[in-house]
Amino acid sequence: MRGAVLYAPGDVRVEEREDPKIVEPTDAIIRLSATCVCGSDLWPYRGIEAVDGPAPMGHEYAGIVQEVGSQVRTIKPGQFVVGSFFASDNTCPICQAGYQSSCIHRELIGANGAQAESLRVPLADGTLVATPDLPSDDLVPSLLAASDVLGTGWFGAVAAEAGPGKTVAVVGDGAVGLLAVLAASQLGAERIIAMSRHEPRQQLAIEFGATDIVTERGDDGVAEVKERTGGLGAHSVVEAVGTQESMLQAIRSTRPGGHVGYVGVAHGVELPGTELFYSHVHLHGGPAPVRRFLPELIDLIWNRQIDPGKVFDLALPLEQAGAGYQAMDQRQAIKVLLHP
Ligand SMILES: [Zn+2]
Repeated sequence: MRGAVLYAPGDVRVEEREDPKIVEPTDAIIRLSATCVCGSDLWPYRGIEAVDGPAPMGHEYAGIVQEVGSQVRTIKPGQFVVGSFFASDNTCPICQAGYQSSCIHRELIGANGAQAESLRVPLADGTLVATPDLPSDDLVPSLLAASDVLGTGWFGAVAAEAGPGKTVAVVGDGAVGLLAVLAASQLGAERIIAMSRHEPRQQLAIEFGATDIVTERGDDGVAEVKERTGGLGAHSVVEAVGTQESMLQAIRSTRPGGHVGYVGVAHGVELPGTELFYSHVHLHGGPAPVRRFLPELIDLIWNRQIDPGKVFDLALPLEQAGAGYQAMDQRQAIKVLLHP
């Protein structure tokens, strides 16, 4: 099969890779209908995260089950399925509490590389959620978005306790930040402040339910959020970048007693203890337990109540994965869908 492999920063190649096989009896093999490039793939692409030899890339996937192992009970060949970037058993105490991305048996999908024609998914019964039927083509991008960016933005909004009567601010205008806006809107937030200085992203934020756009960042961004919230700060702030600046911006934009939901993969973030102590802000986040939300998200997409697939503003054949990385790296595209 064909698959994307990162050799070194800036060097993504699509090459012949070994077809995935059933390794454990709980595995499934799926043929990908669509895959995509994640904002987090840009960390190694930019050389900010070390690349350890040629690495298969990609962890977002939706497609049709080809084959299942002998112990797979609920997932069947022919089903269209969506799964998260962590495989999980969905039965252990951590999964039962809704934290499937910390499952005691979790396995990272990234190791297998989902930017490819086929993918091995471990713990298929716990990990995969089937759609009611085969989806029409126009639903596939939104179902793919549920695999990571929608689920992650949704968790950010839930962790920030977005809801009726709340003012929610979102730091970060990548796909996750934009979908956190959509999530906050679905969760009933009264006011949603999207922080973005890029016109096309501002437009999408407004389509997804943002009521305010703030273009300032850092301390100026904090001041602007306070200005718009009677000097108090937002009740709920989603942090969807993962840098020191964005994390502090999120904490400082939150009112005392409010909540920060942080879902940007942290790189070099160090929190000032004294400031945190006096802030009275709740912090909750981490790798999103997307599996917790998948049934609900698939239902919303299936019934055409939400259209998160709008974050894909560029679609390319898998063979052009390298161009997809470049477009996202240079912020020419919000998110790139790849057709295997
Ligand atoms: Zn588990």
